[in-house]
Amino acid sequence: MHLNRRTLMLASAAGAALAGSTFARSGGALAQDGVAKKEDMARMAAAGPDEQLPGAYRYRIGDFTVTEITDGMAARPLDDSFVVNAGLSDVQAALRQAFLPEDKLFIPFTPLTLRTGEDLILFDTGFGEKGPPTAGQLKRGMAAAGMDPADVTKVVISHFHGDHIMGLTTKDGQPVYPNAEVFVPEPEYAFWMSDENKANPPDGRKGNFDLAQSIFGGLDDRLTQFKWDEEFLPGITAVDARGHTPGHTVFAIESGNERMMFLADTTNHPALFVRHPDWSAVFDQDADQARKTRHRLLDMVSEERMRIASYHFPFPATGHIAKEGEGYRFVPAQWMPVLQGQS
Ligand SMILES: [Zn+2]
Repeated sequence: MHLNRRTLMLASAAGAALAGSTFARSGGALAQDGVAKKEDMARMAAAGPDEQLPGAYRYRIGDFTVTEITDGMAARPLDDSFVVNAGLSDVQAALRQAFLPEDKLFIPFTPLTLRTGEDLILFDTGFGEKGPPTAGQLKRGMAAAGMDPADVTKVVISHFHGDHIMGLTTKDGQPVYPNAEVFVPEPEYAFWMSDENKANPPDGRKGNFDLAQSIFGGLDDRLTQFKWDEEFLPGITAVDARGHTPGHTVFAIESGNERMMFLADTTNHPALFVRHPDWSAVFDQDADQARKTRHRLLDMVSEERMRIASYHFPFPATGHIAKEGEGYRFVPAQWMPVLQGQS
């Protein structure tokens, strides 16, 4: 998800300050028929009786334990600017097929953690304290899973959009994971940290330079850059997934004889972009390259019948990808009461 100036403004606004922001104008996640929008936002923010329980779901990959943890969702009002190369009526038909609302898209955010023995590794951070009130839930999901942010030894970042990196720091700029080394893709770091690129930003992407530089600028001593095709941590290999952003990266995770792929933002919501892999969300910086990457990776995981996790899929955001017709289909994993025997 790309952050433009409008969403940045929304991200830095909190609670009552939301009036007038994109999120409040859209009615947020809950408003029906334009009624009680602000009240709905306040209720969600206050962890009232209507709020969902913390979301955490575990499974094993070999000796690793994966825990998917929801950071919540944001509702994006749907107009013809969201899918840049499909008509609004086609997009609405796809949503209807998936039994989803047709006037807005609920976009989920799903970081995951990996316990490998020595390490507790977090992949992407959600919004933290700086997002819409219906996001920023990672912390309580971690608590429900028995994890403390101070236990996280490594944070791995797929790309530098706000919904993936804002949770690295508090509103005051303090580290949320004080004991963690932070791993970032080398080409992503090079692109967003460059003052030359910042001076000539691609259309609508200017605000993301400020965001990336404010978050990573102060992290030098705890920052490690990795390259594509490098197994930069035992069992974790960075895979080139450029297009969504210049350094967008996905991760092959392997232990014993089991393997999975964390697809990050290879696709946004599966009801639209897994079913219709040639459609481009407005967040894809290089839409043609992102489309090629999407086909390459979805072909790979479907042919290999590999388990996947994906950041913008409905919680718990894990399952498989099947080829179907011109596109693909997301097949959610079956919920399991125990961690073994489900690969
Ligand atoms: Zn995203």
